[in-house]
Amino acid sequence: MSPTQLSDFQRVREAMADVQLVRRGIRDPAVLAAMRKIARHRFVPAHLQMLAYEDQPLPIDRQQTISQPYMVALMTEALVLSKNDTVLEVGTGSGYQAAVLAELCRAVYTVEKIPELAEKAAAVLHQLGYGNITISVADGTRGWPEHQPYNGIIVTAGAPHVPQPLLDQLAEGGRLLIPVGDHDLQQLLRLTRTPDGIVKEDLGGCRFVPLRGEYGWA
Ligand code: SAH
Repeated sequence: MSPTQLSDFQRVREAMADVQLVRRGIRDPAVLAAMRKIARHRFVPAHLQMLAYEDQPLPIDRQQTISQPYMVALMTEALVLSKNDTVLEVGTGSGYQAAVLAELCRAVYTVEKIPELAEKAAAVLHQLGYGNITISVADGTRGWPEHQPYNGIIVTAGAPHVPQPLLDQLAEGGRLLIPVGDHDLQQLLRLTRTPDGIVKEDLGGCRFVPLRGEYGWA
């Protein structure tokens, strides 16, 4: 790729952040900086690279999708991450969301059930130099018990209900972001573990591909 094209992508990325994120209320400077920095076009199929910074989700392989930039920013901001946090992601997909998280916390553990997607994501994340992301091919509805407790858990596929193992693996004060609903439409929920129990907030409607597995859809 020529330098001209590279700088074009940087300009498009700045515009994406200004128009799609800042104007819609994304405030966290660290989230905005990560999304201005990360080469999202590297995470989409080659023939869709020119659409990588559009205001929409895009198809990746195996009928899965990379989420709309705004949704990535909204969910990341709602996780309220600190530099020392450990985060679990369920649904690695392209690896883009994992890269955004990796800019904001100490360690990202991400689980993908389709081996081919996990391999591709691992390759891109390695090329981009991320050393704090670990990928596993598994059913993420069971969480990833070895590295618990997590300060943040983010599920990037739509669930019929909140998987109990994810709640169990949440640290005191930890936040779980998960779309819950039916196949076509979900509500984005934030569940926070407090000394008095789990506090649940509804952050609005959203649309994700289905979370399949033991504690997800069949
Ligand atoms: N976060 C991704 C978007 C993922 S799309 C990105 O930034 O590109 C949702 C992903 O969840 C798909 O790749 C799908 O295969 C995966 N998925 C669905 N059910 C899963 C499960 N039980 N465990 C792990 N991954 C799952």
